Amino acid sequence: MAFARVGRTAQAAAMSWRHVKAGALAILSSAGHALQKAVVPNSCAFCGTRLRLGAAPVCAACDSDLPWIDRACSRCALPLPTRSHRELDCADCQRAPPPFVAAVAPLSYGFPVDAAIRALKFHRRLYYARALGHVLLQSMPRLAPDIDALLPVPLHWRRQALRGFNQALELCRPIRRQAGIATLHQVVRCRATPYQSGLAAQHRRRNLEAAFRVRGSIRARHVLIVDDVITTGATCRELATILLDAGVESVSVLAVARALRD
Ligand SMILES: [Zn+2]
Ligand SMILES: [Zn+2]
Repeated sequence: MAFARVGRTAQAAAMSWRHVKAGALAILSSAGHALQKAVVPNSCAFCGTRLRLGAAPVCAACDSDLPWIDRACSRCALPLPTRSHRELDCADCQRAPPPFVAAVAPLSYGFPVDAAIRALKFHRRLYYARALGHVLLQSMPRLAPDIDALLPVPLHWRRQALRGFNQALELCRPIRRQAGIATLHQVVRCRATPYQSGLAAQHRRRNLEAAFRVRGSIRARHVLIVDDVITTGATCRELATILLDAGVESVSVLAVARALRD
């Protein structure tokens, strides 16, 4: 009993320390945003061209050069070679539909999108979050209008502490501001997982087993999972499954870019 009590006390102390750290990170992050707003003029995130105040954060020339995907599977956002105008799902989704009703990823994970996402995640180039978040906002009309909550893919608290921010949460900001959709905070990544990019597909799926947990109840009916890149879709499938288990009626996915399956 005493051992269990000591265990619980240690666990509670660790939890409250995590909350203190998360609070401090949130304060630092919002202070960073205020500072960035104050000192950085409005310029294109990709080429640096000065833009008028209030303009979209990507200039027209860079916007037209981005690797937009013409046609994609409506369930997993995989680019499709067909020129047909009919709504088509890829063979994998027809055989085994994913637990989410739709996935949209407007750009392919090639230059300069891959470089921008890496610069955002690993070199704190937060101006790319504003630019790529704007791309996500533009894609919202392609999704169902009844979405009532956003779930930025959670990072493990240790990785978030090291990085100083969660890029998926940063990407959500324009949608939160313009569409007024709230963010869910009840899902946590309970297991630190190695970087997905270094793993083969089957190892990625194993790597994600029980990586997430719902803490408390979720009132939302249609949740939109937001991420930077969809690669195998394993992360989104796991998150969608635990959201549905928690009583959410439907789940959609929105990411900046779609990488090809390996
Ligand atoms: Zn530009
Ligand atoms: Zn598909």
